[in-house]
Amino acid sequence: MNKKKMLVEAICDGTVLDHIPSDKLFKIVSLLQLEQIQSPITIANNLESGRCKQKGIIKINDRFFSENELNRIAILAPNVRHNVIRGYKVVEKRNLSLPDEVVGLVRCPNAKCITNAEPMATRFTVEAHTEGGAPILECRYCSRKVLGEQVELL
Ligand SMILES: [Zn+2]
Repeated sequence: MNKKKMLVEAICDGTVLDHIPSDKLFKIVSLLQLEQIQSPITIANNLESGRCKQKGIIKINDRFFSENELNRIAILAPNVRHNVIRGYKVVEKRNLSLPDEVVGLVRCPNAKCITNAEPMATRFTVEAHTEGGAPILECRYCSRKVLGEQVELL
C-alpha cells in the first residue's frame, strides 16, 4: 500500500480534499474555518504529486461540505479532488468545478458597484475555467473582472 492511499483510507467517515495546490492550502484551511472544528483533522502540504508539482491534502473526520462551501474552494483552487468517505469507503470522488454563475459568494472589487451599495446578492459569470487554471469571474452588474484566486469571498 502506498502512502497516498493510506492517507485516504485511514478515515472512517468524513471528507478528503486532495490535489490542493500547495500555495492554496492554508487559504482553504482558513476559508473553511477548520481551526474551529473539534474532530480529528490531518493537514499535509508540499507532498509530491504527478499532476501539480507539489500538493496539499486536508482530511477531516465527521465533516461534510455543502455545495456553497465546495464552490468557494473551487473559486480559489479549481480541480481540487473532493472525496467523501463513509464506512472507510470512498463513496464520492470528483474534481471540483464551478457552475457558470456564482451568486452571493464573492464581493465585487469595484467600490462603485451597486452590489457594494445595496443589500443585494452579488452575481458573477464564471468566464473562463480551464483545466488547472484559475477561473475569471465577471460581475453581472458592472462587468468588473476578477481572477478567482484574488477574490474576496463573502
Ligand atoms: Zn460589480
